[in-house]
Amino acid sequence: MTTLTVTHVPMLDLNAQYLPVEAKVIEAITRVVRSKQFVMGPQVAELEQALSEYCKVPHTIGVSSGTDALVLALMALGIGAGDEVITSPFSFFATAGSIARVGATPVFVDIDPETFNIDASQIEAKITPKTKAIIPVHLFGQMADMDPIMDLATRYNLKVIEDSAQSIGAEYRGRDGVSRRSGSIGNIGCFSFFPSKNLGCCGDGGAVTTTDAALAETLSVLRVHGAKHRYYHELVGGNFRLDTIQAAVLLVKLQELETQHIQRIKNGLLYNDLLAGISELTLPVDRTPGRMIYNQYTLRTKKRDGLMAALNAAKVGNSVYYPVPLHLQDCFASLGHQVGDFPHAESAAREVLSIPIYAELTHEQQVYVSTAIREFFKD
Ligand SMILES: *Cc1c(COP(=O)(O)O)cnc(C)c1O
Repeated sequence: MTTLTVTHVPMLDLNAQYLPVEAKVIEAITRVVRSKQFVMGPQVAELEQALSEYCKVPHTIGVSSGTDALVLALMALGIGAGDEVITSPFSFFATAGSIARVGATPVFVDIDPETFNIDASQIEAKITPKTKAIIPVHLFGQMADMDPIMDLATRYNLKVIEDSAQSIGAEYRGRDGVSRRSGSIGNIGCFSFFPSKNLGCCGDGGAVTTTDAALAETLSVLRVHGAKHRYYHELVGGNFRLDTIQAAVLLVKLQELETQHIQRIKNGLLYNDLLAGISELTLPVDRTPGRMIYNQYTLRTKKRDGLMAALNAAKVGNSVYYPVPLHLQDCFASLGHQVGDFPHAESAAREVLSIPIYAELTHEQQVYVSTAIREFFKD
């Protein structure tokens, strides 16, 4: 029996995730290096097939990052200058950044304070004749409320791009009783394989998914500079390719993903028990029917900065995702927003704190983290 006393807990322990599969990862990389098929080698199509099966969606196209997935999705749907795209102000920068990069205007809708996801009931009021699409973000591993979003898209003829970067394998059970996986509901799903995501590679990587065969074709042509046949360009695309080495790594890591999800969910439920009953602390609310995959375990408290200092002192990793809502970012000053425009996103930015939730976390580590939190709220 190991009786190692826990003295610190990192926010993320990528070694714990990699060491059990390191031999397989290195072997997969070596195979690519020896083949010299660094660009669009056979592992890319193999991964796309495997991801389609995992995400339960007919078409997947591997791309260079989650950010590029969003940009490519917008380009494939013909969204650009003069268009408006509705999204959440409480997300990683890339969600709104990508909208601006294609020349369109991000239009924000406040979040539901319990789930941190876009409040679908506030979307309709922001739809104008210029609105072309909605980008719901499935933040922290919990899906946005997709039924009302898809209803609006049908009614107003809008496209839906799911920002699935934090939610691969998460599920949404709609009113028809069917559970669908993240990225299989809207027109396009966008995934990131940044190393800290639930499915991470050894660098940058991403994917787009779609149920529409014609759109899949457009996405794959745009991925290689808009050329279906090399040097003959039908469209202006870009270099959005996923490296073969990253695809090979992801093929190994995808085999572990479901086990990792189950462990993360277990860890989330244990924290719910260990941290129950602290009046000044709000635990994550897993409210959306389906499956949350705990990309983060995000606490909320008015004493956030004090809690952060206490956790730092106890050597417990922690992170604020995200300290500044997107409508208040300097680069979007021209949109003319001010403090108070999206009160739920703003108070989330002041109150959230994410704690370690990675799959390999031990029971003792979770007790250590929870004890440090309980100590802080004791007085
Ligand atoms: C990580 C992330 C992205 C961007 O993915 P990259 O692979 O880092 O480019 C986009 N949206 C959200 C919500 C993310 O968490």
